[in-house]
Amino acid sequence: MARHLGFQPEQVQDPLFGRMGNTGAAFPLMLLAAALEEGSPDQLLLTVSYGDGSDVLGFRTTANIGQGASGLGVSGYLDSGQVLDSYETYAKWRDVWLTDSSSRRPQAQSPSVTALWRESDQNIKFHGAVCNQCGYVQYPPQQVCVECQARDDSTPIRLSDKLGTIFTYSLDYLAGTVDTPLAVVVVDFEPGGRVLCMMTDRETSEVKIGLQVEMSFRKLRVVNGIHNYYWKAVPLRGGG
Ligand SMILES: [Zn+2]
Repeated sequence: MARHLGFQPEQVQDPLFGRMGNTGAAFPLMLLAAALEEGSPDQLLLTVSYGDGSDVLGFRTTANIGQGASGLGVSGYLDSGQVLDSYETYAKWRDVWLTDSSSRRPQAQSPSVTALWRESDQNIKFHGAVCNQCGYVQYPPQQVCVECQARDDSTPIRLSDKLGTIFTYSLDYLAGTVDTPLAVVVVDFEPGGRVLCMMTDRETSEVKIGLQVEMSFRKLRVVNGIHNYYWKAVPLRGGG
């Protein structure tokens, strides 16, 4: 298609299909982010998508292109990926081989969509609350500060981009999960705040008290067509 439009091969970006797979609706925007990572000032970029319809977005880069980037970026996250040890593991993760639902007792219930909406600040944005009186951080946000008992006096704080440390953990070999053993960790965050969550993308031997972790947004499961997302801890990526 690019050739028909008169572009030279060097003007067309690596589509990353082989490394990233097809990420669906996010795909063109992830390619745009990857292009911006390698871009230089005063370039013209075209983001073109097609599927159920088509969008064409045009951008001109400025001298500020190198600013404002945080995190590993698309290339950094791709580099931090791990190769699975066997097709068996892949088949379990992709629900080709249904181990999760068959071992789960009782069966997973549909999440309440009203509860998902009501709790989206804490579950999707991963907001805790910092007390305006004493600075104590709580997750999930509470009406009363457990430290100084101030009432209704806190400010949301985003914990998703904060570094954490494993305070304690358990490894569950009987849990109905594709990721046996299920690592459940208690994470203390740098600005304060303590969260109980699952840990993923880890070797079992890595899970230790004191390990530095970061948070990663994951799809937990789909029950009756309702997608349920939450945050999991992962070992610090990119060599930290
Ligand atoms: Zn307080």
